Amino acid sequence: MAISKRIPERLIFPKGEKISGGGIANDHFTGTAWLQVLVPDDMTFHCPAFNVTFEPGARNNWHKHPGGQILLVTGGRGYSQDEGRKVQVLHKGDIVKVAPGAKHWHGAAPDSWFSLIAIMPNSQKGDAEWLEPVADEEYPVINPGADARSEGEHT
Ligand code: MN
Repeated sequence: MAISKRIPERLIFPKGEKISGGGIANDHFTGTAWLQVLVPDDMTFHCPAFNVTFEPGARNNWHKHPGGQILLVTGGRGYSQDEGRKVQVLHKGDIVKVAPGAKHWHGAAPDSWFSLIAIMPNSQKGDAEWLEPVADEEYPVINPGADARSEGEHT
C-alpha cells in the first residue's frame, strides 16, 4: 500500500505548483494537491486545461462549473462524485464528464495518489463556484490498497 502513496515526479506532463497543504493558500482543497496549467484560457477556444495531482486523501471542495468539465484520469486511484449519486472510483484511462452546473467533487483515494487532466470547456460562462469541503463522513474508503499493482509505482 505504501507504494501507491508515492507520487511520480512526472507522468506525462509536469506536476506543477503545490496549491494546498502548506504551499500557496487555497481554501478550495483538503490536503495537498499540485496544479500545472497545460492550456491557458483564451478568447478563441474558451477551453483551458490543467494537470492536477492529489496526494492520498486530498480532494477539492464541492463545486460547480458553469461550463461543465471533462476529467481524463492519468494515474493513481481516486474518486469523483456528483451530488446525490454514488462515488465513482477512477483509474488511469477513465473519463468523467461533469455537466454544467452539477455540484460535485473529485480527489484521491485515502491510500493512493491521483492524477488527472481537467478540461474546462465554455470558460466564457464563468469561473467555478466553490462550496463546502467534503466532510470526512462523506469521504469514502473503498477497497483500500486495491491498486498497489498500478503503473509507474515500482521501484
Ligand atoms: Mn470539478
